This record gives sequence, C-alpha cells and structure tokens, in this order.
Amino acid sequence: MAIILKTTLKTTLNSETETQQFAKTLAQNSNPPLVIYLQGDLGVGKTTFARSFIQFFGFDKVKSPTYSLVESYQNDIINIHHFDCYRLSNPEELEYIGIREYLKGNHIQLIEWPDLGKGIIAPADLTIEISGDNNMRKLTLDAQTNMGEELLKCIN
Ligand code: ADP
Ligand code: MG
Repeated sequence: MAIILKTTLKTTLNSETETQQFAKTLAQNSNPPLVIYLQGDLGVGKTTFARSFIQFFGFDKVKSPTYSLVESYQNDIINIHHFDCYRLSNPEELEYIGIREYLKGNHIQLIEWPDLGKGIIAPADLTIEISGDNNMRKLTLDAQTNMGEELLKCIN
C-alpha cells in the first residue's frame, strides 16, 4: 500500500539554537499518542533535535540512546520514549528489550534510524528528514497521518 503524504513542511535553520527552538515549538504543539521518525546522516542533528524536544517537557538531562537503544522520560504531564535503532543489526532485537510494552499506551515516541527497526517499531505520524552541513540544516517534515497533519498546521 502506498503511503499518501498528506502535508509537507520544509524549513531552513541557520544555527543549532534555531534547531533547538524549532524542536521546542514542535514539542509545545505535540500531544500523545504521537510517533516521530528522525532521519538523516550521522551527526546531522537528530539527537540534538530530540534533546530539545524532550527538554521542553522539563527533563534537563537527555542522553543519546545510541547504546541503550531507548531512553524513557516520564513526569506528571508526559511519557516519552526516545529510540535510536542505529546499532540494531536486526529489527527483531527490539523484541529483547520488550518493544511491545513501549508501543502500548499514551506517549510520544521519537525514533532515530527508523529504517533499521522497520516492521517492529510503530508507524510514524510525522517523519523529519534532516540534512545540511556547518551550522545550516534543512528539515523536511512529512505528515503520514491526520495527527501529523494537525501538528504541522499548528507550527506553520
Ligand atoms: P545525530 O543524532 O543526527 O547523529 P547529533 O545531534 O548527535 O546528530 O549531532 C549533531 C551535531 O551537529 C552536534 O554536534 C551539533 O552541535 C551540530 N550542529 C551544528 N549546527 C546544527 C544545527 N543547525 N542543528 C543541529 N545540530 C547542529
Ligand atoms: Mg543520534
């Protein structure tokens, strides 16, 4: 079945500060349940983006889940799971960490390297593709569901 892209938003960010601000604006308009894929080369800013997004909800320390596969954040208002599938050699490995439990319930999921978790991770509401070099970044945000589309309308 073809994925119909309902809405696309493109933006250029000229500094890390602008990326951080953009991530916080997105966070401010995000409501669970929501799944966001973060795509792009190594070092392009996926974790930087996720960190600011998560910090918006009051979590100061956000470390990259590259080695742990997933880091979770929970407080009175939100429950967030931040995945990084980079080190997976097989999506099935996600079963070992109890992925099914992570897929239940009312939360936000941010997923780096989603292609490597294909077939096991939740489908995306919003896909964010990051590219660029030096301090400039181009972001393409594609909504895959009505919820993703609503989110893009909010930040546009
Ligand atoms: P990834 O998770 O995609 O591998 P990271 O977020 O770990 O990437 O690293 C991104 C790097 O790019 C950081 O060192 C960050 O300081 C740098 N950077 C420079 N400019 C930007 C920008 N505009 N947006 C995001 N990161 C930036
Ligand atoms: Mg990363």
